[in-house]
Amino acid sequence: MNTERNDAPAASNFIRNIIDDDNRTGKWGQRVETRFPPEPNGYLHIGHAKSICLNFGVARSYGGVCHLRFDDTNPEKESVEYVDSIIESVRWLGFEWTKDGNEQLYFASDYYDKLYEFAELLIQRGKAYVDSQSAEEMRANRGSATEVGTPSRFRERSVEENLDLFRRMKAGEFKEGEHVLRAKIDMSAPNFNMRDPVIYRIRFAHHYRTGDTWCVYPMYDYTHCISDALENITHSLCTLEFEDHRPLYDWILNELAEAGIFTRPLPQQIEFSRLNLTYAITSKRKLLQLVSEGHVDGWDDPRLPTIVGVRRRGFTPESIQLFCERIGITKVDSWIDMSVFEGALRDDLDAKAPRTAAVLDPVKLIIDNFPEGVTEPCSAPVHPHHPERGVREFPISRELWIERDDYNETPPKGYFRLFPGNKVRLRYGYVIECIGADKDENGNVVAVHCNYFPDSKSGTEGANNYKVKGNIHWVSVAAACPAEVRIYDRLFKEAQPDAGGRDFLEALNPDSKRVVNAYLEQGAQDALPEQRYQFERHGYFVADRVDSKPGKPVFNRIVSLRDSWGKPA
Ligand code: ATP
Ligand code: MG
Repeated sequence: MNTERNDAPAASNFIRNIIDDDNRTGKWGQRVETRFPPEPNGYLHIGHAKSICLNFGVARSYGGVCHLRFDDTNPEKESVEYVDSIIESVRWLGFEWTKDGNEQLYFASDYYDKLYEFAELLIQRGKAYVDSQSAEEMRANRGSATEVGTPSRFRERSVEENLDLFRRMKAGEFKEGEHVLRAKIDMSAPNFNMRDPVIYRIRFAHHYRTGDTWCVYPMYDYTHCISDALENITHSLCTLEFEDHRPLYDWILNELAEAGIFTRPLPQQIEFSRLNLTYAITSKRKLLQLVSEGHVDGWDDPRLPTIVGVRRRGFTPESIQLFCERIGITKVDSWIDMSVFEGALRDDLDAKAPRTAAVLDPVKLIIDNFPEGVTEPCSAPVHPHHPERGVREFPISRELWIERDDYNETPPKGYFRLFPGNKVRLRYGYVIECIGADKDENGNVVAVHCNYFPDSKSGTEGANNYKVKGNIHWVSVAAACPAEVRIYDRLFKEAQPDAGGRDFLEALNPDSKRVVNAYLEQGAQDALPEQRYQFERHGYFVADRVDSKPGKPVFNRIVSLRDSWGKPA
């Protein structure tokens, strides 16, 4: 159990150290403004949660603000559906983007006019040119790691010609690919990103926000740094693959500062390692494939590491924040084991979740010496460590549901549960002694028989006279509430399903979803959607937020308990 995390100071990391230094030198005054910049071309996943917790978390703890900015400059792949889902997911994770009561919600596409204007300015200052090489020529002339690039034969066009061509590109006079606008930097730079990168291309594509207004669209590298500067971002945190792009980020902002557009200091890009989680896929493209080919039941399938998926699975925002705190922020790429994620959920819910009994694979237990038609009340704490949360009450009677594997006619060594002649405690009830079982013609157990000891009831003095090693849960047949329970397991059988470019579909776990008809302790049938419980001895479960209805519950298993079976309570 973790009781300290809410008031514990955020763990230090190299990014906080940079901010602390900046605050010491007064580089930004004491201002800290970050941004989370998703492209609305898919649903957010657990990797994004790391970036969200970092960006919003840093802003929050320094009294700053984190902008939510949609980096939407790829018209073909983006949509409002994704925007809406991203907004909902970030909110659900527990973050907001307001400053002095004003929403700090931005769209890179709102900067199209400015971005275009700055591109013309770069042309006028001799820092950009229209290139009319074919894509193949451009590729061939880029050079290699050992060879410098070859300047395009269009590189020395005059400012007038460049401006004229760029304006005509914008006016739709050319076909896609006929011309591009390139920054004029250095064709022999060791860093490829500096070999005159393309900053604008022609696309006759409908944009979900700007419609058909534009047929030239800015490239990511050009857009991102300018968006940061326009929004007065101080620290622009991104993943390591952008490290090689940082010189370009700085070059563009520096050129625009030289031109008098931006004032210094300019936003600083800082890279951190991305989250790789075992048994999960965190590539939007591959997630899309899992959804569109029907390997899972939609974006919010509880087996997916999408934020909507882990939410539906039953993970809490607090458990995700705790997970992100625990994995920390470094510059070293590594894999985090799924058990760390699951552990954070257990540590969050252990203290919160009410306990209840649920029999997931029911078989009948008949107490032969218990009078028919009689019920007797039993009670148990709602939470074993929080007596103030009260008790739950449920009846015991002659016929109960127990787990099928709590009976074993030929028990292996160390099996302490039901077999003929053995005694166990019915949790919060009586000690019973097993007699045997009825079987059908195929040898399947249809009912287990036992006798109970009337002076052994939990909570009475006699209880202590019985020493038994097994302790099993149960629900009374008469009071049990039937429920559909979805037992989810990891989606992949292998820790790194897509390692080395392998076909990740081959690693799909065929047993990742099992649906059972369970019996729940009375009370759980009224669970509201997203209400969570610990089903004793089984793990943590949540009432499905889509399909569960009070009176007709559907539960998802979030995670099992670490040590589930056979432990006396
Ligand atoms: P794409 O391949 O579509 O670019 P992406 O995962 O980079 O996918 P973005 O929407 O561009 O998606 O990401 C938004 C932010 O989340 C970026 O700053 C990105 O660096 C960060 N991010 C994405 N994936 C991870 C991850 N696995 N770990 C940490 N941060 C991530
Ligand atoms: Mg990206």
